[in-house]
Amino acid sequence: MFETTIAGSLPKPFWLAEPGKLWPAWRASGAELEHAKLDATLLWLKEQEDAGIDIVSDGEQSRQHFVHGFLELVEGIDFEHKVKMGIRDHRYEAMVPVVTGPLRLKGRVHKIESTLARAHTRRKLKITMPGPMTIVDTIADRHYGDKVKLAMAFAALLNEEARALEKDGVDVIQFDEPAFNVYMDDVKKWGIEALHRAIEGLKCTTAVHICYGYGIQANIDWKQTLGKEWRQYEEIFPALAKSRIDQVSLECANSKVPLSLLALLKGKDVLVGVIDVATERVETPQEVAATIGRALKYVPKARLIACTNCGMAPMDREVALAKLRALAAGAALARKRYGERVGAVGWGSARIARGRRKVPVRRQ
Ligand code: ZN
Repeated sequence: MFETTIAGSLPKPFWLAEPGKLWPAWRASGAELEHAKLDATLLWLKEQEDAGIDIVSDGEQSRQHFVHGFLELVEGIDFEHKVKMGIRDHRYEAMVPVVTGPLRLKGRVHKIESTLARAHTRRKLKITMPGPMTIVDTIADRHYGDKVKLAMAFAALLNEEARALEKDGVDVIQFDEPAFNVYMDDVKKWGIEALHRAIEGLKCTTAVHICYGYGIQANIDWKQTLGKEWRQYEEIFPALAKSRIDQVSLECANSKVPLSLLALLKGKDVLVGVIDVATERVETPQEVAATIGRALKYVPKARLIACTNCGMAPMDREVALAKLRALAAGAALARKRYGERVGAVGWGSARIARGRRKVPVRRQ
């Protein structure tokens, strides 16, 4: 009950890449860089295990950015002549590569880090990849001429890599779709279908992560414009509940998302964000347990997984580590606090019966 996991990314050590940045420059190149990436992956596996995280990830140590880490292995993309583009509905501008021809994978994208991680941990292993809609929103197109066609082309490549990751022994494959919170109509029209294409034929657990972004200034400013209640999830959760995706990861800690919206995800595992990545303040285990308690009103306890709101890539390493510990300690506290009664069918009536008959009631 209340397994713990993370949204995906973790800070890169200072000897691997510039700290505190979303698009950090690597500290080395060639073979030296490849060794450094794998050393950082091992380091974070150990740190996650020691902190008490149940479903661990590679911490995205081998990719510079969560979208472009995938794109670098795709043929048909021009990285030399990037163009400036407003992304996430023009929330911020980024220099993005351009699709110039038919898309094809050059080879395996995450094989090295996934097989290394699989060889070094017995815990459940999660690997994340960008979702098709978010990729399409982070790249310019001069070839396909149609967003949906482009998304489906990327979905086919994601599926190719996902099937290989499953063979590597990965337990959970998660697609990150921050764009789902921006283009809600498109999610229903084609976003979920593109995800279905990406998970086609997979037997491992599949997840989608939908958040309000990293704790960077552009996102903090954007959140100020969203009003007192953030209801974006309300528009897409009913469609996600009907989808074939197993798990939905979302933002709850310090957020204005009404938790009652979680009830719209009936039948899904819900990765409840109990750790805020937009602040350096480390949550107490009591706060984490309290957020879990609030979510339990709308999510059955067997379906609740405690998670971070989003990736921790741009954070301070020590702060991220302290937050991992708080996540695990908070989930442990929640197990003690809510494990016995919440969700136990008939608990209320059992108590009444015990009061009347004065006989011990066997716990379900
Ligand atoms: Zn996120």
